[in-house]
Amino acid sequence: MSKLKHQIRIKIRQRAKNRCEICGRHGTKHNILTTHHIKPRAFGGENKEDNLMCVCEECHREIHNYINTQLHKHRKPDMSLFKEAINYVKIKKNEFSKWKVD
Ligand SMILES: [Zn+2]
Ligand SMILES: [Zn+2]
Repeated sequence: MSKLKHQIRIKIRQRAKNRCEICGRHGTKHNILTTHHIKPRAFGGENKEDNLMCVCEECHREIHNYINTQLHKHRKPDMSLFKEAINYVKIKKNEFSKWKVD
């Protein structure tokens, strides 16, 4: 269970206008928005607004997958890795949406 305060979650979601900050999709019953720690809790990241972002479950999973993959390759768990993970998923999602037909 996360100890992140409910109030902070609400604030982060409002700041993001109820959208995923990676893929831009709105939060719905089928697209659950979660709170990601840019510097993860496991590495000392705090529950502060500037360390938090609003992301959907799908993007969230991909960010952590990327971080874990890099850690398995013996990358250092530093800010450059955490930011790279976010950018990686952002670019991946944007490239995908270019191919989507409306
Ligand atoms: Zn997303
Ligand atoms: Zn996270």
